[in-house]
Amino acid sequence: MSTRLFGTNGIRGVVNKELTPQFLLDIGMAIGTHFNGGSILVACDARTSSQMVKSAIVSSLLASGCSVHDAGTIPTPSLQYAVKIRGFNGGIMLTASHNPAPFNGIKVIGSDGVEVERKTEEGIEQLYAKRKFTLKPWNQVGEEYQFTEALELHKKGVLRHIDPKPIARAKLKVMIDSGNGVGSLITPYLLRDLGCQVYTMNSHLDGTFPGRQPEPTPEALTGLSKAVKAVGADLGIAHDGDADRCIFVDEMGEAYYGDKSFALIADWFLTHHPGEKIVATFNCSKAIPDIAARHGGSVIWTKVGAITVSRTILETGAKLGGEENGGVFYAPHQPVRDGTMTACLMLQILAERGEPLSTLIEELPKYYVHKGRVPCENTLKEKVLTRLLKQTKNLKIETLDGVKIWPAEDSWILLRPSGTEPVYRLYAESTQPKKAEQLVSEYRDKLNEIIRSQS
Ligand code: MG
Repeated sequence: MSTRLFGTNGIRGVVNKELTPQFLLDIGMAIGTHFNGGSILVACDARTSSQMVKSAIVSSLLASGCSVHDAGTIPTPSLQYAVKIRGFNGGIMLTASHNPAPFNGIKVIGSDGVEVERKTEEGIEQLYAKRKFTLKPWNQVGEEYQFTEALELHKKGVLRHIDPKPIARAKLKVMIDSGNGVGSLITPYLLRDLGCQVYTMNSHLDGTFPGRQPEPTPEALTGLSKAVKAVGADLGIAHDGDADRCIFVDEMGEAYYGDKSFALIADWFLTHHPGEKIVATFNCSKAIPDIAARHGGSVIWTKVGAITVSRTILETGAKLGGEENGGVFYAPHQPVRDGTMTACLMLQILAERGEPLSTLIEELPKYYVHKGRVPCENTLKEKVLTRLLKQTKNLKIETLDGVKIWPAEDSWILLRPSGTEPVYRLYAESTQPKKAEQLVSEYRDKLNEIIRSQS
């Protein structure tokens, strides 16, 4: 591994390839040295490697004099909430989120419950690179405790921001697909307590992810779509592996990209709080600024990445943020993405408005979306972007993250080098049905041509 260990969202790697016991011990000692004897809450998701990864990290933290509170197997937002509410010095979530089964990962959480800033990550990377580890003498090694209240705390925390009466009256029928991940430990129970009729699928914890891939892309949710229709549910809910994201399926079985549901939540939020700021990642739909404008609000655009959204929320005092992938940040609860909170906000909206989800989505500003990906070596990404910018001189462009090109007022395409994989991601949107697809195909060809000429 190079010195740069943290990606867009923590450290990720394949178990016993990048994430060997030796690496985990070393990075654990670097993190423990950073926390300098604090009280750290540690948890994992339900991957096959969770116990192996956790044992190594816990050992390192104890050796560096931290006391470790083991919260067991829980969602990432449950850990984050407990860190903040119970006043821990920090938290470590062992998860590879939506990555495939062979992966695991490490998210380092600050005392505010939010993933640590980039400069803290760099500090940890330097401690790791220089092997500057603090190992305490035998009589100052940390102690380990069990922490069993994270799920209960999280449920209570979410309920503080929900009006349960209209939800109970609406008697909503809900199908939940946790994708064999840890969302099954909280969302079905909370929704049952709110008076929903709850059905579940892929609800047993299984780190081989037999039900579907851990990333809840609309394309991966055909099982949920069928199940929603089979039981006549009002709503389908899908989480990723660590349940910080939430994707929705309407009563007709149609699965939506996350920025559609985010647009609906933004509309609801701004109806109650007109004029507020909303934080959105650069690949989100134009529906978000359209909706903000309807309510006299504004949008703060950020680079793609959950940490950037959280940190922007903290810096600007915004109360709502969202991503295109199903991440919603409801800051009155906590300024991090939280799949269970997002599910409850959607129930609140359905109950308040009394209309089916398909109708509510239909009423949003109408944009057609198409996405694609082009393989590109990491070393070429920068050069390719420079070349592309030269070719698009005459068009309106924005370069907050990759390049967003506007061939017309109602159509855009974003070409963004992925922070985690050797690919360019393409997102296009238009008010015209075929235009987004055409844009992806046109720019896929352009990118491929540039890549060929560079390699
Ligand atoms: Mg996740």
